[in-house]
Amino acid sequence: MKVKILKGTNQIGGCITEITSDKGTKIIIDFGEDLIEEKVPIEIEGLTKGNSIYDAVFITHSHGDHIGLVSFINEDIPVFIEKETKKIYNLSSDFMTDAKPIKRLTKEITFGKSVMIDDLKITPYIVDHSAYNSCMYVIEGDGKKILHTGDYRNHGRKGDNFLKTLKKIGPVDLLITEGTTFGRSNEKFKREEELQKEACSIFEMFHQVLILQSSTNIDRLVTFYKANNHTKKYFIEDLFTATIASQLSKTIPSPVTHQNVSVWITNKYYKKPQPFKETYIKPMEQYKKNKPFHHDFCMIVKPSMLKDLKEKLYDGGLLTNACLIYSMWDGYLKEESIKNFKEELEHMGVTFLKLHTSGHADMEAMKQVEEILKPKKTIFIHTEHKGMASELFKNVIELEDLEELSV
Ligand SMILES: [Zn+2]
Ligand SMILES: [Zn+2]
Repeated sequence: MKVKILKGTNQIGGCITEITSDKGTKIIIDFGEDLIEEKVPIEIEGLTKGNSIYDAVFITHSHGDHIGLVSFINEDIPVFIEKETKKIYNLSSDFMTDAKPIKRLTKEITFGKSVMIDDLKITPYIVDHSAYNSCMYVIEGDGKKILHTGDYRNHGRKGDNFLKTLKKIGPVDLLITEGTTFGRSNEKFKREEELQKEACSIFEMFHQVLILQSSTNIDRLVTFYKANNHTKKYFIEDLFTATIASQLSKTIPSPVTHQNVSVWITNKYYKKPQPFKETYIKPMEQYKKNKPFHHDFCMIVKPSMLKDLKEKLYDGGLLTNACLIYSMWDGYLKEESIKNFKEELEHMGVTFLKLHTSGHADMEAMKQVEEILKPKKTIFIHTEHKGMASELFKNVIELEDLEELSV
């Protein structure tokens, strides 16, 4: 087999991997947007234009930097996506103005069930990451085995399961994996369970807890819901979070499935077009609980809710002892809307706190992966510091974008 990283050896996000069998079967793993400001969709001959030369595309998870350009892929190339991943991505697109829903047909993958693309056997496995039902792929062909981890970690709620799966997969000829945290931090990242304990202590100190987190980070939603139950507060989700949570597994806290969860539909949604209101507001309205703010509560918030928070809660005298927990990557705090949200809430007397753990692998996790898989070669992508890899790991191949490697 031959491997080429079309994009992603020197950047975080927007990584595109090409794998070709000796016979010429060609697959792509991930086709997402760059995380940088100017998003110019990449054009690839035989994938997005011209006669198709690729036999299939496989998507690892619902983050835009892995899935965001799927709609540009030629119609005759099958795209394989896990069912909930597609659902989350399309719901996100309906709620955000700048994302595009997947308009084309896709094929569903099932964890543990192999797909044959001519002479290549591709097996998806669930992986621990901050996107629900994230996936890694084992690619077998020409007597060789490759593992593409996608984005991963092992300190989340699926971490132990992830290591067990790796042991089952066993040694590989090539590991293609993420090095997001190279150059960021060498420390061991906190587990979700540790975060939950810290959250419990914070929840005990405040009557009103506002939480700024990604709505698609279901591990984190569960962490705060559990802390919430420990302190017997009311759990309130914004419409986007409530919609996502209610459309996944019944065990995920949502107003539809959980008695002590309510939904707050802020004014901006009532200004949306009628089809949006019919699809998303109408079914959720019956789950609004009576006066949830008159009890101690914990609420998932968004910067776009600032006006509503001020008018309903601050002006209404309902923020008596409140904090805002910031539970996302520190880098986003520089974004104007988030910075402004934080400052405005602080003016309202809300205490700002940070409580977060990364969605990406720490050094220890990467070492464990190497230890278990004993890869003959390793390529790090999804990193801005690939040069650091060879100091820390064995058999690292430093590829540039478009450079070919024989496996
Ligand atoms: Zn990513
Ligand atoms: Zn990701």
